[in-house]
Amino acid sequence: MTVRVCVLGPSGRMGRAVLDTAASRADWKLVAAVDRPDAPGLGAPVGGPAGGSGLVASADLAAGLDACDVYVDFTSPVATRAAAEVAATRKRAAVIGTTGLAPADEAALDALARVAPIVVAANFSLGVNLLRGLARTAARVLGPDWDAEVVETHHRAKRDAPSGTALTIAREIAAGHGSDYDRVKRHARDGDVGARPRGEIGVSAVRGGDVIGEHTAYFFGPAERIEIGHRASSRHIFAAGALRAAAWVVGKPPGRYDMLAVLGLE
Ligand code: NAD
Repeated sequence: MTVRVCVLGPSGRMGRAVLDTAASRADWKLVAAVDRPDAPGLGAPVGGPAGGSGLVASADLAAGLDACDVYVDFTSPVATRAAAEVAATRKRAAVIGTTGLAPADEAALDALARVAPIVVAANFSLGVNLLRGLARTAARVLGPDWDAEVVETHHRAKRDAPSGTALTIAREIAAGHGSDYDRVKRHARDGDVGARPRGEIGVSAVRGGDVIGEHTAYFFGPAERIEIGHRASSRHIFAAGALRAAAWVVGKPPGRYDMLAVLGLE
């Protein structure tokens, strides 16, 4: 089955990667590209070096959602919430990759998930989703006596910190420990923070250059340590995962699905 896809944010880094990836495969048909009204390139062809998709970027979200089976959203929290509200009126399936979502944005996604199937993931790469499982297993086996820390590095333009992926990995570690993440988390340190409490899970963010995404889970034991790391060297891994999720989610019952379900890793 060919899935009709609407891409949000075609002028963005991830939007371009999704367009490139979709254009190279027959499983997906790009039917719309919707950007914000003041985006660069509105009205111009999108996709591939010479606008190979045959699509023109538009600001008409309702028309884009009406034309597709599923929309793929890597934009900003404000845009993601607004799109989810319109998509809910159309029961439109969605693949959401935007990170840094506030509780009100999450509530809009939950409302959409009550009427349509959606996949929401802070990271669509196979490798990172495998790392999630490995981190949970390591935490379970090693226990809270081994100090767990997550460090992430991203390009200088990334707006939210720590990354959604780092938070997901840290939550997996808490699950492995059997602890409540919100009680044991420590996002960065500054000043006289005291000795590290047993069971604390630290998350730190590094920003610079054009790094696409690096995540490492550390487990520090007495006289030994384990590091489980992942480095992305192309945005196309996220785009390919998001399009795989798009093909998977169409026709599923309404609900909010995780990338682990798409990859069969649950
Ligand atoms: P970017 O700033 O390059 O692109 C954002 C795009 O959103 C732009 O094209 C912008 O015009 C568009 N946009 C803004 N408001 C809009 C609106 N109202 N309607 C339609 N489009 C709108 O950012 P990016 O690096 O592509 O990242 C986008 C998001 O995806 C971020 O939250 C980032 O953290 C996240 N991300 C997620 C994954 C993942 O695997 N889940 C991977 C990489 C990036």
